[in-house]
Amino acid sequence: MAVNLVWLKRDLRLADNQALFHAATNGNPVLLMYCFEPTVLRDKHTSKRHLTFIAQSLVDIKMRLPDGALYCAYGDCLEVLEQLSQVIEIAEIYSHQEVGLGYTYARDKQVAKWCSSKNITWHEFPHGAVIRGLQNRTNWDENWQAVMRSKTLNADIEHMRFFTQKEMLTNHVDLQFFIQSQDCSVFQAGGESLGWQTLNSFFDVRGREYAFSLSNPDTALQHCSRLSTYLAWGNLSLRQVYQQVFKNWNKPHWRRSLVAFTSRLHWHCHFIQKFESECDMEFRCVNRAYEKMPRVTGKEGQQRLEAWKSGHTGVPMVDACMRSLIATGYLNFRMRAMLVSFLCHHLAIDWRAGVTHLARVFLDFEPGIHYSQFQMQAGVTGINTIRIYNPVKQGEDKDPTGQFVKKWVPELANVPAPLVHSPWSLTEMEQMMYGIELGVDYPLPVVDLKDSYTKAQALLWQWKKRADVARESKRVLSVHVR
Ligand SMILES: Cc1cc2nc3c(=O)[nH]c(=O)nc-3n(C[C@H](O)[C@H](O)[C@H](O)COP(=O)(O)OP(=O)(O)OC[C@H]3O[C@@H](n4cnc5c(N)ncnc54)[C@H](O)[C@@H]3O)c2cc1C
Repeated sequence: MAVNLVWLKRDLRLADNQALFHAATNGNPVLLMYCFEPTVLRDKHTSKRHLTFIAQSLVDIKMRLPDGALYCAYGDCLEVLEQLSQVIEIAEIYSHQEVGLGYTYARDKQVAKWCSSKNITWHEFPHGAVIRGLQNRTNWDENWQAVMRSKTLNADIEHMRFFTQKEMLTNHVDLQFFIQSQDCSVFQAGGESLGWQTLNSFFDVRGREYAFSLSNPDTALQHCSRLSTYLAWGNLSLRQVYQQVFKNWNKPHWRRSLVAFTSRLHWHCHFIQKFESECDMEFRCVNRAYEKMPRVTGKEGQQRLEAWKSGHTGVPMVDACMRSLIATGYLNFRMRAMLVSFLCHHLAIDWRAGVTHLARVFLDFEPGIHYSQFQMQAGVTGINTIRIYNPVKQGEDKDPTGQFVKKWVPELANVPAPLVHSPWSLTEMEQMMYGIELGVDYPLPVVDLKDSYTKAQALLWQWKKRADVARESKRVLSVHVR
């Protein structure tokens, strides 16, 4: 019996899943497959929290399908496909077009080769409005609008024919293994159903204050959509989210928030498209001329990096953001940008040293957005405004009561705001009063902020003026600007 195989990747949903929709159209029974690949499990971008989210998403899919219709395998993808092809006749493979890291792209090329050697057609469907192999952005926005406004494609699960003979298949993965091996209560949990719950709560109540709350790390938890994780692993499609904006467009007092939210939805595909069009930005600066910019390395660099990664830099807002991110997997945009700015400008560390650390701790790790945003905030694209965040000012503006810092840096719990954002200015007497000894209970800042700001600013402006940077910037603009 010929079977259509739906290879699930970062599209872990049943509704508006083009691969599933099209697989169901020629009458062959359908088998859904997810492959836990050892190379992905070992990769430096992957963490346990990602695997748990994936496993939860798969459980959610499994519960809504006939028993056996979802095959979760462990193994190298080519080996799994080869084994499958020994026991079932794979007629066609359907999947979305993953905009992944270098090694998943290389794996996809091998799969394509394998398919053609076996005479199996592999249908790949675009990831949102991202266009494979695009050389410039002519008509890109028109395509985005067309994709986002078109009808969602929902397979008729109830009347679909599935292949369900799971006893014929080997290497089954016990999804509970990934779920039980982590304290799930602190992270957003995976699954299409929870994705919809989060989306509905945003459009029912939480989103009204979106535009006014998104820069503050505490209020963002409540009023930002929190959909990034569901979008990153494909529990929801961007089109499903965008079409909810229309439904809510005329709600009184919501317009400003909905306008701000819609522009973020555009950025989603815009940044992934950048990565798709120039995927070696995983390894190199988008603007090649920045490769030669001097960076702090050696023992000093390592110490700075470790302090940043663990949230012990002695700069409270930076440490609170990093610690809360490690604990919860989430941080709002502004504070993500500040963390990268602090690493690359104040600490003068190469962006590559920090990029995989944040990938692992972000529950919503999405390669396309992550690499493009990281390089942009690190100031190595040559086309974006140079922005060096002052973490003290960010603390005073976005956490005026010090509540966020005190929660995540309890060493400073007794220090009043606004002093809590610059504890190095406490006198010895104040340190005694507030029960803290700097350099013992909480570190002194790893760099002098005024000095590091001045140096970073001088360096960045000096580089921006260089002829090789300008030449490269022209090239970058021609490829990536809409
Ligand atoms: C250094 C850095 C790394 C980042 N890495 C990731 C990542 O790995 N995965 C990820 O999803 N986002 C990433 N972002 C973008 C952004 O911070 C998150 O998408 C956002 O904070 C998620 O919260 P939310 O879903 O509540 O967003 P909302 O503000 O509610 O926005 C709605 C959706 O729009 C998209 N979006 C929002 N902001 C951006 C943005 N600046 N660029 C592109 N798309 C955006 C996301 O899909 C998000 O879910 C990164 C930002 C920075 C500065």
